[in-house]
Amino acid sequence: MKDTDLVVSGAELEPLIDDHALTHPRPTVDRNALQDHLREALKLLHVDLEDENVRDTPRRWADSLIAMTSGYDYTDVRKLTTLFRKACSTADENCQNLVVIGGTYKTLCAHHILPFFGRFIIGYIPEKMIIGASKIPRIVEVHMRRLQSQEHLAHGVADTIEKILEPRGLAVWMGGVHMCMVMRGVEQESSFMETNVLRGDFLQDEKTRQEFMSIVNRRGQKD
Ligand SMILES: [Zn+2]
Repeated sequence: MKDTDLVVSGAELEPLIDDHALTHPRPTVDRNALQDHLREALKLLHVDLEDENVRDTPRRWADSLIAMTSGYDYTDVRKLTTLFRKACSTADENCQNLVVIGGTYKTLCAHHILPFFGRFIIGYIPEKMIIGASKIPRIVEVHMRRLQSQEHLAHGVADTIEKILEPRGLAVWMGGVHMCMVMRGVEQESSFMETNVLRGDFLQDEKTRQEFMSIVNRRGQKD
């Protein structure tokens, strides 16, 4: 039997992604009000707003905050609506294999609105569906444009992939440097944090888990 390509589009995707932030867009952000508040914040910090380097900062700060939180916008989910899922059958050997996709992420911590960034390695064992390799980083991208913890980011990405692919097993590893630890004087060695989310076969089967962790050890650790 030939594999069938499935395109998941808007209406079909919504029930798959049971995530309020993804299916309910935030209202339009009042850019001017935000800019005014940020200008006030700078004033409270006694920053010289007449300085030519700072004069336009409230506008730039507002714009960058809006962009860096655009994961709350419905429009970003549109990027996900052309997700290709490819059906595969258990008779097909490729459907049994561990699929591993790696990349980088950058996001803002919810506690301090400071960046944390690093690498992710995602592995899954297909059950019925596989997905184009470029689509997994796209899922990470939507999730990373929100305020969160690394734990929350890893679980959010895992939840979305699980809903779209229903894999037999799923593992999400993230390792990142947290600027709120680097810049606020906590020991720098502890600024690198690792998060591991294991589900299905990765949780139940020692060998599968070891296979994934050896990939993480080779590719994911900080240089
Ligand atoms: Zn923080």
